[in-house]
Amino acid sequence: MTAPVGSVVLVGGGPGDPDLLTVGAVRALQDADVVLYDRLAPYAVLDELAPQAELVDVGKRPGHHAIPQEEIERLLIERALAGARVVRFKGGDPFVFGRGGEEAAACHAAGVPVRVIPGVTSAISVPATAGIPVTHRSLSRLFTVVSGHAPLSAAEAEHLAGLGGTIIVLMGVSNLPSISAALMRHGMPQGTPVAIVERGFTAAQRTTVSDLAGIREAADAAGVHSPAVIVIGEVVRLVQERDPEAVALLADATARAGDAP
Ligand code: SAH
Repeated sequence: MTAPVGSVVLVGGGPGDPDLLTVGAVRALQDADVVLYDRLAPYAVLDELAPQAELVDVGKRPGHHAIPQEEIERLLIERALAGARVVRFKGGDPFVFGRGGEEAAACHAAGVPVRVIPGVTSAISVPATAGIPVTHRSLSRLFTVVSGHAPLSAAEAEHLAGLGGTIIVLMGVSNLPSISAALMRHGMPQGTPVAIVERGFTAAQRTTVSDLAGIREAADAAGVHSPAVIVIGEVVRLVQERDPEAVALLADATARAGDAP
């Protein structure tokens, strides 16, 4: 006789505010025997929402040792095959730069039932909480979400620079100088507004605004660091920022933007 196989649920935890968990996420956590969570997931809620579950931190922090991805997948499968209801709790949406696709595939391959509960992605919600809509009538009718983990290839920079609309960069703080330079090299106007929204949905949320030519210096001066979402495009002009310094920077950028609409 073999024990009944458990299951894996890949749960998107949203951008950090517990109010942005879905009802499905809350239910999955309540039912979980084990929760494997990330640093970017809103893990502070786990004690309350998953009180009977065993909590395992598999978080990755830049520069710190982390449990390798294969090991996370092995753990998920091992626990599910032993009969546990396993929740893999991730920041944002599991399928947006979250390696959720790999984890789902590994579960399928091992015969473990797996389902996904999408989450509110930081790509849209972090700009939103700074007052920046990713689309806006007459300003932007498309948005592109790109990983800034590695520098843009020449082809990517060329396409992005010519695309119009809004460009949203996740994991882009350390490569910001190379990303902004590559976009300008491929013809994106220097005066294109850029916002960097750090630590969205926390008390330490901060928005730094400049234009493509000035954002590197502005980010250095402000000491910007990860996690942050970078937004490039005309919608940045709509930023709701209480910080007068940021507003002044944006006005500066607007004044310099010869080719603004
Ligand atoms: N799956 C996640 C993204 C994972 S990649 C999602 O859908 O949101 C991690 C990157 O997400 C970070 O480097 C940062 O760019 C962004 N990010 C996630 N949460 C954030 C937050 N609260 N504030 C700012 N950026 C955030």
